[in-house]
Amino acid sequence: MPPDPDAAPPATATTETLATAAELAHGFLAGLTGRPVGSALDTQDSDATAVRAAFDVPLPAGPLDPTTVLAELAAAAEPGLVASAGPRYFGFVTGGTLPAALGADWLASAWDQNAASAATSPAAAAAEEAVLRWLADLLGLPAGVAGGLVTGGQAANTTGLAVARKVVLAKAGWDLDRQGLAGAPPVPVVVGAERHTTVDRAVRFLGLGTDAIIPVPADDQGRIRPDALADTLAALPTPARATAIVCAQAGNVNTGACDDLATVADIVRAAGAGWLHVDGAFGLWAAASPTHRHQVAGVEHADSWATDGHKWLNVPYDCGVVFTRHPAAHRDTLGVAAAYLPTGGELRNGYDWVPESSRRTRAFAVWAALRSLGRTGVADLIDRSCHLARRFADRLTAAGTLEIGNDVTLNQVLVRVPGDTADADTRTRALQKAVQQDGTCWLGGTTWRDRAWLRISVSNWSTTPADIDRSADAILDAVPTR
Ligand SMILES: *Cc1c(COP(=O)(O)O)cnc(C)c1O
Repeated sequence: MPPDPDAAPPATATTETLATAAELAHGFLAGLTGRPVGSALDTQDSDATAVRAAFDVPLPAGPLDPTTVLAELAAAAEPGLVASAGPRYFGFVTGGTLPAALGADWLASAWDQNAASAATSPAAAAAEEAVLRWLADLLGLPAGVAGGLVTGGQAANTTGLAVARKVVLAKAGWDLDRQGLAGAPPVPVVVGAERHTTVDRAVRFLGLGTDAIIPVPADDQGRIRPDALADTLAALPTPARATAIVCAQAGNVNTGACDDLATVADIVRAAGAGWLHVDGAFGLWAAASPTHRHQVAGVEHADSWATDGHKWLNVPYDCGVVFTRHPAAHRDTLGVAAAYLPTGGELRNGYDWVPESSRRTRAFAVWAALRSLGRTGVADLIDRSCHLARRFADRLTAAGTLEIGNDVTLNQVLVRVPGDTADADTRTRALQKAVQQDGTCWLGGTTWRDRAWLRISVSNWSTTPADIDRSADAILDAVPTR
């Protein structure tokens, strides 16, 4: 029998459904420090087929009870879950979730507020205004910057560079919105050789074309070389120099090194280049620590900044943040207008500052994270991660069976089997697999200066010295003997 269209819709989420979700979540979190850190793909040599099969059940012919569905979901996800929220996951640059941020994120879902505008949710608009102000303050950005909450560093880079593109073209007398890019003056994008790959993707998305990218040599830590930057800018023909966008970096994804931003900013200004963007997905957070902020000295001189909340701030996925020092241009680039969309209220409309229209309210989790940590708590989170990264490096090298490949000044460590040989590369890759299989901790691999390395990133609020020591012991035990 077809459903009766006049029947009442099913009841809203019941206490039982939400209690089941809370119980499942709590069970997972309580087991986080005890479970293997990798998924079953790493630790049990399962194949992807098993992970896929758990979800690939038939679409039911009709409704199922929500509480039952949640239990099914948890069971289906289990073999494919990674303990990346836990204290011994050192892959990529991955934060966990602070308790207050997790709770706030649950509320964001329950409230289901649309952060598009002040009309769709005054609370969302007000929370965004507050957290953007707090973040700009913590990250050492100038007063009056404009910002927006986006999905991550990729979106933040793309948004910052979108504003840059419009502004530098306007300086050359080109109206991007009206005229588009065809026939526009060239926009060189001057980047460090060790920039993050998302910068290149942003350049592709923005239609500037990767031919516009001019890589500048980097030093042995991946920092853009100021002398080479000055030479590169000087070599540009005058009109192209004025439309050039320079992308600097705070926090290289392999070494954690930050470009010398003060010097870079001086060079950009002296050359008359059009714009300075800083990709500071995690490294920008050094500014929140009195002990580490010298590493990003001069950051306030940039025109735009990209950073992440889901990395070092430890809010749940997803959360990125973009700032520019040009509110009018920022809003001009991203703003929307339609007859049914309200404008000009007292609270700002989020959709005028980001590429999206309807959006999740990420600001609730950020607000809760920052309230729960306070200024000293954020600094402590940064300092502790850096201290633990140093401890990790020291433990790993104590036996002489591994070597470190970077100056451990932030939260990143590169480690490998010693020797500048292909054989040491092979053994390093074998070590990566063995560590992932063992499951005590999880690290990824990388290629750095043409050699294989393991990458360690200490970014989780809950990691303890004991976690570092236990992980270092597991890694050392897994070093392949000849
Ligand atoms: C992680 C990272 C990005 C990309 O951030 P997502 O949040 O993954 O989009 C960009 N730049 C740097 C330096 C990063 O570390």
